[in-house]
Amino acid sequence: MTNPEKMQAILDKIKAYPRIMIFRHIRPDGDCFGASKGLKAMLQATYPEKEIILTDDAQTDYLKFLGPDDAPVADEVYASALGIVVDTGGVKRISNPKFALCKEVIKIDHHIESEPYGVISWVEEHRSSACEMIVAFYDMFKDELKMTPEAAMYLYTGMVTDSGRFRFEGVTGDTLRYAALLLDQGIDTQTLYAHLYLKEFNELKFQSYVLEHMERTENGVATIYVSDEIQKQFGLTREAASTSVSFLEGIKGCICWLAFIDNGDESHSIRVRVRSRFVETNGLAEHYHGGGHAMASGATVYSVEEMRQMIDEADAFIKEYKESHTGWL
Ligand code: AMP
Repeated sequence: MTNPEKMQAILDKIKAYPRIMIFRHIRPDGDCFGASKGLKAMLQATYPEKEIILTDDAQTDYLKFLGPDDAPVADEVYASALGIVVDTGGVKRISNPKFALCKEVIKIDHHIESEPYGVISWVEEHRSSACEMIVAFYDMFKDELKMTPEAAMYLYTGMVTDSGRFRFEGVTGDTLRYAALLLDQGIDTQTLYAHLYLKEFNELKFQSYVLEHMERTENGVATIYVSDEIQKQFGLTREAASTSVSFLEGIKGCICWLAFIDNGDESHSIRVRVRSRFVETNGLAEHYHGGGHAMASGATVYSVEEMRQMIDEADAFIKEYKESHTGWL
């Protein structure tokens, strides 16, 4: 099936089911929150007679302003439902494992396709966000579907956050046209940006710690390791500690940057956030139990030694890239 055919098939399934359950990934970010809540709001406005359920325990501090999800439901409820999973590359990353109880499952995602699942797998890797795909879906069927200011706000949140405020490589003319379509609904962007981007005092102090302690390898990989102890010292949630990756961005010559965040668990796992410009680094993440996008991916290492090994591998990879390419900055 081509993608327009898949979109039509998804709409047909949505129309056919009286109950639809929406799922997203673990460690929810703005895009999976926005896509799941936006899709729910849009479908509920379009089909008031249908039951659209989004139940998920996992929350993320900086997205709490988007409001809670539905209360958990009994297992029997899943059995008759169409499940739609948004923004999630593989089944292991779906936050609610009960998605498997659904009668049929549909995947809507923009990550590099590593694992198709579901009766329809609609994946567009070039899209800057899953929210952009939901808006494209709306745009294709706008005679049938209803957009609301609430749905627009959720979807815009995902578009803004996953595209780095419309700066990342995946941003196209379509991205801005779809964003415009959402803004036309009347979004209070000042309040939205205040929720998304204002920082707590201790978080800014932490930023200065990261700038002070970051390192760079010979060939231009910027790194920071944020131990459990440091996270406690600054009173940070894991999520707040994980934002350290963004402080490493923007160093001339450092075209790859890695933030290692201690998970503080028994297996001594360390979350790795992998970012780059010009060069695709998702292969590096895949070597360390991870994956994601070409220039924004995630991985896990299980010791400080493995962290060093990953840094060395990144450095060698960047060396080779720089030697064989021009135009990087
Ligand atoms: P993060 O640094 O956690 O924001 O991850 C960047 C991107 O990579 C996100 O789109 C994640 O969904 C994806 N990602 C992160 N960790 C993994 C993983 N272990 N496996 C597959 N994809 C991942």
